[in-house]
Amino acid sequence: MTVQIGSTTKVTDIVELRQLRGPVIKRCACGAAFTQRQWNALKLVGYHSDDVEELELRNCGCGSTIAITLGSVFQKPALRLVGM
Ligand SMILES: [Zn+2]
Repeated sequence: MTVQIGSTTKVTDIVELRQLRGPVIKRCACGAAFTQRQWNALKLVGYHSDDVEELELRNCGCGSTIAITLGSVFQKPALRLVGM
């Protein structure tokens, strides 16, 4: 897909861009919003799991550590690659 910045950008291109960037999966208290791709670009702090679910922790640009839920620990795949 070629995206042209300027007056030639069509509405369909903008819709495609939105889909490419995806929905916001996490918001920080500072107001920053992250799509999956942006989330993946944040500095990985680590993983935390309790008896119920597993969390992925990353650092926002403001310095706060924020987390998303990866899902139930019972649905966790047996092998997970970190740092890909
Ligand atoms: Zn923040």
